[in-house]
Amino acid sequence: MALLVGLCQTGQAQEAQRATPAAPPAVAVTLFQNVRIFDGKSGTLSPPRNVLVRGNRIERVTTDQITIDPTGRLVDGGGRTLMPGLIDMHWHTMMVRPTPVEMLTADIGYLNLVAGAEARETLMRGFTTVRDMGGPAFGLKRAIDEGTVVGPRIFPSGAVITITSGHGDFRQPFEIPRTLGSPQSRGEQLGAAMIADSPDEVRVRVREQLMLGASQIKLTAGGGVASPHSPLDVSTFTEAELRAAVEAAENWGTYVTVHAYTPASIQRAIAAGVRCIEHGHLMDEATAKLIADKGIWLSTQAFPDELANVFPPGSSELAKAVEVFAGTDRTFALAKKYKIRTAFGTDILFSPGLAQRHGELLTKLVRWYTPAETLVMATGTNAQLLALSGKRSPYPGKLGVVEEGALADLLLIDGDPIANIKLLEDPAKNLLVIMKDGWVYKNALRK
Ligand SMILES: [Zn+2]
Repeated sequence: MALLVGLCQTGQAQEAQRATPAAPPAVAVTLFQNVRIFDGKSGTLSPPRNVLVRGNRIERVTTDQITIDPTGRLVDGGGRTLMPGLIDMHWHTMMVRPTPVEMLTADIGYLNLVAGAEARETLMRGFTTVRDMGGPAFGLKRAIDEGTVVGPRIFPSGAVITITSGHGDFRQPFEIPRTLGSPQSRGEQLGAAMIADSPDEVRVRVREQLMLGASQIKLTAGGGVASPHSPLDVSTFTEAELRAAVEAAENWGTYVTVHAYTPASIQRAIAAGVRCIEHGHLMDEATAKLIADKGIWLSTQAFPDELANVFPPGSSELAKAVEVFAGTDRTFALAKKYKIRTAFGTDILFSPGLAQRHGELLTKLVRWYTPAETLVMATGTNAQLLALSGKRSPYPGKLGVVEEGALADLLLIDGDPIANIKLLEDPAKNLLVIMKDGWVYKNALRK
């Protein structure tokens, strides 16, 4: 008996560590009255509707009158727009505010507190979910899910997995060579990036991230802009190494996504079974066709030129940024031409000022997509990619849509975002209500 109790207690402790369920909303029932709905799927607004939220779910969407008892919360929408919370599919929860040097040298407690402050702001910009594409975000995610810190839902990847010299290897030359038993690099100690140079090593690193609660796995399949030792043209992992990661992730019920710009790195990743490509800015026509034919996801963005400003003038990083940014237009054109399943994420790194213009990075997409297509991408479509995490999703339920049964992540906007998508560029003014998981984090209509 004592043994059984002991086992149960251990089991409970582990469960608590993996995903502590959030408390039910303090106000159990919310009624949004007289709202026009952008549902995250179709590109039009509905006629006026009433939407009932109970607990953390949308219970009813109807033209019928609904009455709630006085303990409930009534939001009189006045004909304004109710839409799903925005989703950013390429976010680095821990790396938005610090500089690269701070990230590698500052105390992890400090970095967590800074990231927590940023997480609140992220939610207040209307982003109710982020897919974290690398960084030690498990602790912050737990604190948010428990309600200790305010922030978005986080689909964590944990540490990015890279090769020696690859994108994510931030070591200095004096740290080479790495020998068996030598201490880990700072990036590894933080859990920001793990270095792996064989299929077996990749397998270990992937399984470690899954054990820690990763909802998907991120590898860097080619060179990157911000890394000191990885030219853009290189392909990093071998196909066997990539396949080891894919196998480990799929055995765990989830998928691998890779950072890749070039045709060679994208094609090798797809051959290895990778399901999603991050960025893809240097892809060619044949690669775009391959991505489309295989039903691979493309998670990409229009990098703002200012993002290059974090790199010193004359640096190789700056030169790489310029080369990548020049590919944006062609990448979106190819994505449209081949009808590639395209998700939106910003990849804002080391740029707190840019983060304040989060919505602007979304509305920029109207250069290639209609406002309605842009909004569908940032909600319902992004959520379809999140669903690839299967049972490893930390948040069982439907995200990115306004429909009965879906999780209640909702924004009330003062206007029609399809007619004027720029409303999302000023969330402080135009987002009147922000709800996540049935909890209201902002209600500017409350008297
Ligand atoms: Zn990234």
